[in-house]
Amino acid sequence: MTLTTGVIGVQGDVAEHAAAITRAARAHDERVDVREIRRSGIVPDCDLLSMPGGESTTISRLLRREAIAPEIRAHVGAGKPLLATCAGLIVAAADAGDERVENLGLLDVTVERNAFGRQRDSFEAPLDVAGLDDPFPAVFIRAPVVADAGSSDVLATWDGRPVAVRDGPIVGTAFHPELTEDSRIHGLAFFENEAI
Ligand code: GLN
Repeated sequence: MTLTTGVIGVQGDVAEHAAAITRAARAHDERVDVREIRRSGIVPDCDLLSMPGGESTTISRLLRREAIAPEIRAHVGAGKPLLATCAGLIVAAADAGDERVENLGLLDVTVERNAFGRQRDSFEAPLDVAGLDDPFPAVFIRAPVVADAGSSDVLATWDGRPVAVRDGPIVGTAFHPELTEDSRIHGLAFFENEAI
């Protein structure tokens, strides 16, 4: 069976996510057909969904304008996997403490945007992630942190703060797992997920 996989493409690293999903699928003996999503009508056909980073204020506005937001909500409501990274995590959260972000409230977490400050805008860190045997090379770019994980499981912390969570079919990361060759986070989210 081929799993139809959507990458929200209103902004952000679409090609990188598509490549990571394809690598992760190969590692799990699965086949995927990856589609870029810029308009409504495609998400309902998707088994798996990835929401990349970018600028959360812009992404959330475009998702609403293009009427994709309710489709993402239905996808998660049906228990299908969603990987939300960086700004994607911010949009998926219940609250980002910023009224310019239209939170989808898919994850019962609150996030703090740009939580690592200007001095450490971007950095790479070896991250211990629950479910992975070796540290993951995590690339943080103006990353958020999870300020309150609510009922979600915390998969990883950095500087004592949660930076990866799982809540049912959703995996959210503050970092960019698509920016290295290592596709284990995509594997965790999509192919080691009890929801599928
Ligand atoms: N700083 C961005 C925001 O708050 C997120 C950055 C990213 O996705 N790399 O929306």
